[in-house]
Amino acid sequence: METSKSKPHAVIVSSPGVGHLVCDLEFGNRLVTDHSFQVTFFVVLEYQATPGESQLIQSANANTLLDIVVLPPVNLSGQVEPSTPIFTRLASVMREIRPTLRSEISTLKPTPSALFVDVLGTPALEVAEEFHMLKYVFVTSAWPLALMLYAPILDKEVEGEYVDQKQPIRLPGCMSVRPEDLVDPMMNRTKPEYNSFLQVGSEMRKSDGVLVNTWEDLDATTLTAMREEESYGSAPVYAVGPLIRAAGPPASRSQLLDWLDEQPVESVLYISFGSLGVLSAQQITELAWGLELSRQRFMWVLRPPSKKDASADTGDNALDYLPDGFLERTHSLGLVFTQWAPQSEILGHRSTGGFLSHCGWNSSLESILSGVPMIAWPLYAEQKMNATELAEEVGVALRPKIAPTKGVVGREEIEIMVRKVMEEPEGKAMRARVKELKISGEKALTSGGTSFNVVSQLAKQMHESEAFAMSH
Ligand code: UDP
Repeated sequence: METSKSKPHAVIVSSPGVGHLVCDLEFGNRLVTDHSFQVTFFVVLEYQATPGESQLIQSANANTLLDIVVLPPVNLSGQVEPSTPIFTRLASVMREIRPTLRSEISTLKPTPSALFVDVLGTPALEVAEEFHMLKYVFVTSAWPLALMLYAPILDKEVEGEYVDQKQPIRLPGCMSVRPEDLVDPMMNRTKPEYNSFLQVGSEMRKSDGVLVNTWEDLDATTLTAMREEESYGSAPVYAVGPLIRAAGPPASRSQLLDWLDEQPVESVLYISFGSLGVLSAQQITELAWGLELSRQRFMWVLRPPSKKDASADTGDNALDYLPDGFLERTHSLGLVFTQWAPQSEILGHRSTGGFLSHCGWNSSLESILSGVPMIAWPLYAEQKMNATELAEEVGVALRPKIAPTKGVVGREEIEIMVRKVMEEPEGKAMRARVKELKISGEKALTSGGTSFNVVSQLAKQMHESEAFAMSH
């Protein structure tokens, strides 16, 4: 790749997991295409690349915008159990990778002036300090970010478990968080995962800035609170989104897209629970019946239930968990798929009219930027907060009465929700709202838009820091 002294050189370190890789890559692409950065992009893997990670790395290599360096996978077997929750496990991975990262960065020319990590990459920020680089953290959604930045204060103020609090958890200037919506690591304060989570909040507070994958119009209140209220710390908060992987022609034309081509406009409900989400065997049965009863078109990315689900004794073939005869009875209306799906392309297809989603933030943004309303079905991490925001504050999602992590959502309720989002006035109102947001999100990213301008400002800071480093 051509380098030039006038280009700021940034390093991005992407921690394991598709959810991080997808938006870290898009952020890197934007730095190069819109702001003329040179970007060296380090991919950190745990064990080996998953199919989703491999596909993303392959297409990023093919478009040659970034200098991609896939670091040798970190193998923690013997040190950390694979079942260890994610904050603790990935903090270990990111600590282990530091020597490799150090030696890689020492060879880079020109010397990079900034290092960007995602929310689970904060242990790598130490390396930035050694090379006198600016250090930034790139996080997904704004409201969970406010919670993370404020968590060190909550830790001092709140007695007992957060989940036992009678009142919502107050975040100055932001929407309060219902105890049952809290992020997973806050569910039990006696576990190491809680301390790892607090640690990330403290490390973010010491960074040169926190970048959030949102835009001013979507999260105005939360962004203002984080900037104005001292209790969130003094690290500047920048809204740089919405950054999503752009839909493009998939490597090979997928049967899913061929099928969508045959369907009426906005008639298909797409169902997917992200890279890690799984349902119980009983919930798969109820969802199948709910879809069948709704008589709406659907496309379902189905995974087998978790091994922990005692009722899951049928093996690894996800299709075996569907009710008898389901595929035959619904074959004119729906499609069930068990592989990695081209999600951006599916959501961007004119026939897709609804998304039953686990509310991972990438999926949520992909849905908004495709103008597709959602049924919010949060499962893990910060997804319950995302779901609450999308349903109650932004008005682009419906939510089942019972939290899917607390019990089984029944077929009748699923049938009603599917009909509502796909064909009833409530769904139409949400579709109109989501289309407005799509336009405002796209505007934020174009030249002169709020997110575009903020990254230009960061580029200027990096230039100044390079000039400062050279003069000392
Ligand atoms: N994804 C995909 N195909 C699949 C499942 C997921 O392309 O079959 C993509 C999806 O488009 C999104 C990412 O994987 O970009 C998942 O990120 P998200 O934040 O939504 O959820 P996570 O998997 O991190 O929980």
